[in-house]
Amino acid sequence: MSNYTIISPVTEKPVQELHLADVAETDAVISKAAKAFETWRLVAPGDRAKLLRKFAAIVDAHNEELAQLEVLNSGHTIGNARWEAGNVRDVLNYYSAAPERLFGRQIPVPNGIDITFKEPLGVIGIIVPWNFPMPIAGWGFGPALAAGNTVVLKPAELTPLTAIRLGELALEAGIPEGVFNVIPGKGSVVGNRFVTHPLVRKIVFTGSTGVGKEIMRGCADQVKRLTLELGGKSANIIFADADIEKAAAGAPGAVFDNAGQDCCARSRILIQRSAYDKFMELFEVAVKKFRVEDPSLDTAEMGPLISATQYQRVSEFLPEGTPIAFQGSKPSGPGYWFAPTVLAPKDSNDRAYREEIFGPVVSVLPFEDEADAIRIANDSEYGLSGSIWSRDLGRAVRVSRAVEAGNLSVNSNSSVRYWTPFGGYKQSGLGRELGPDALDSFTETKNVFFDTQG
Ligand code: NAP
Ligand code: MG
Repeated sequence: MSNYTIISPVTEKPVQELHLADVAETDAVISKAAKAFETWRLVAPGDRAKLLRKFAAIVDAHNEELAQLEVLNSGHTIGNARWEAGNVRDVLNYYSAAPERLFGRQIPVPNGIDITFKEPLGVIGIIVPWNFPMPIAGWGFGPALAAGNTVVLKPAELTPLTAIRLGELALEAGIPEGVFNVIPGKGSVVGNRFVTHPLVRKIVFTGSTGVGKEIMRGCADQVKRLTLELGGKSANIIFADADIEKAAAGAPGAVFDNAGQDCCARSRILIQRSAYDKFMELFEVAVKKFRVEDPSLDTAEMGPLISATQYQRVSEFLPEGTPIAFQGSKPSGPGYWFAPTVLAPKDSNDRAYREEIFGPVVSVLPFEDEADAIRIANDSEYGLSGSIWSRDLGRAVRVSRAVEAGNLSVNSNSSVRYWTPFGGYKQSGLGRELGPDALDSFTETKNVFFDTQG
């Protein structure tokens, strides 16, 4: 038995003491979820849909409460936190349309009928990181429940409060006991048990690439299904023919949102050399204007980092003497505040340029032409997200086809929508979440042939 004290990243003061589950408690919940699967899978599609819509409505009615809880636990800006709770509602509503539409196929065969069914997998283990506790949880449990699975969900040790509340709201909505279970605990205990327990049929993991690889190795033992959403080092590629004003005005939000603790953060800015000076001038103005302040204020654009550990990790990317192009502001006093920081490395060998920092640090590198931009953008083991800025339509199409990343936006930094697929190339992940196809990764395709001759 162990306890964990949640610390506010804004005040550095304790918020709440929490019990962390051990292996025996985890096993008990997994058994409960396996038992609940026997009946949840048989709930009529229309009834399952209604329950998910009810869950969505209750989440919506508690939007402000959930948002305030995230500000308290995670230091997210209130604007972001409201969006995050709204995203859980939207994902539930979107997938509430799925139970009645989990179509199979009828495939022509001689002497009979051939039909495919989409069968649920069983218990799904969802392991959530601390950076977006609500949306990342919802991206897993929304489609998982809609497809007829039951869920065990482990929030990050640092940020369990909203997940625990969502578990309570599910019960309030009438989702039967045992169908959606939230188990706060350590990754090495609860998360690892999801991987080793034979009744957990699939893992949905979001977090660091290192832990993701360990989980993938663990899943191999049981050929356990797996979705991975891992790190990123996404490129914001700006051509000289783009609307440089617009690209520069949007660039701080594209990397400093959530204090840079975002797997989609555009943390490498690639700017065509002929527009470099103009961009940097405008970008500096935008960075200095970026409001880093008490996240409970409506005007806040960025809050503190999540923890003292994360502050330390980010700081290590900027050892004494690191040349900094310019920085934004941050409040003084308690809290894990880190000023938005812009680096202009001489080349792409810089550690801060190559590695995921997960903090408000961005590197700006010039490029010569289209081929050069594509080469530099793809020179990374990651491939999650990215932006392309150009007024030349042909170029925008060519570059967006050539960049090896799962979620791109052109003349925009907005690439996450609950109804479009999300996921990474290369070491940024495996599989896709959200959108119309996510249900495929929460079901098995079963093919049945019926002989009509006898
Ligand atoms: P992490 O260790 O990968 O944690 C993510 C989740 O996995 C947490 O719930 C964690 O539990 C759990 N976990 C840890 N070890 C596990 C294991 N052996 N088996 C099963 N589950 C396990 O990430 P982190 O330590 O919080 O952050 C480290 C770095 O990862 C960040 O600086 C960032 O670069 C990256 N990161 C990326 C994302 C993303 O969205 N792609 C999100 C978060 C972090 P605990 O809470 O107990 O550790
Ligand atoms: Mg960790």
